[in-house]
Amino acid sequence: MSMSKENKKMPSIFTMAKNFAKDLGTYIKEGAPNVTHAQYTERLKACNTCPKLDKEKMRCTLCGCLVEHKAKWKTTTCPDKPPRWKPMFKSLAGPKNENVRKAIATNKILHKAYDAGIFDPKKPETANPILRKLGYDDIIVRKQNKECDGCDEPGESNSTEKGKEKKG
Ligand code: SF4
Repeated sequence: MSMSKENKKMPSIFTMAKNFAKDLGTYIKEGAPNVTHAQYTERLKACNTCPKLDKEKMRCTLCGCLVEHKAKWKTTTCPDKPPRWKPMFKSLAGPKNENVRKAIATNKILHKAYDAGIFDPKKPETANPILRKLGYDDIIVRKQNKECDGCDEPGESNSTEKGKEKKG
C-alpha cells in the first residue's frame, strides 16, 4: 500500500465510536466549553493543511472524527504527534467530581447505543436523543454549518441560551 493511501485509511468504526464517546465525555465533564470563532478558524486551517485529513469526508484519519465538529469543542485535541493544534484546555475537574461520573456513564451509554444501532458515530447528531434523555439539552450536537460557537440551527437550538435571551 502506498504512503498516501495509508494516510487516508480511517480507524475502525469501533475506534471512531470510542474516540467520539471519549471526546464527548470529556466535553460534558468540563462543562461543554467551546472555542472562540478565531480559535475555530485557526484549528480548521491547521486541519486543511494536514496530510492526515480526508478532505472528501472532512474527517481526521487518525481519530476518525469530523474535524468541523471536533474543532468546536475546547476540550478536544489534535491526535497527531506533535499536535498541530495549540493546547487550549486544562482540566480542573477532580476524579471525584460528579461530572466525571456523568461522563463515564455517558460513554457507557453511547457504547451500548452504538451496539444497539441507535447511535451512529458517522452522524454525531444521532447522540442527541440520548443526550436529551440524560438531561444534557444544552450540549446537543448540532449539524455542521459554516459558523461555529454560538450558532443555532432550526430545530437544534440551545435551550440555555434561549432562556438567557428571553430574560435579557
Ligand atoms: S485533528 Fe490534527 S491530525 Fe487530525 S486532521 Fe486536524 S490537524 Fe490533522
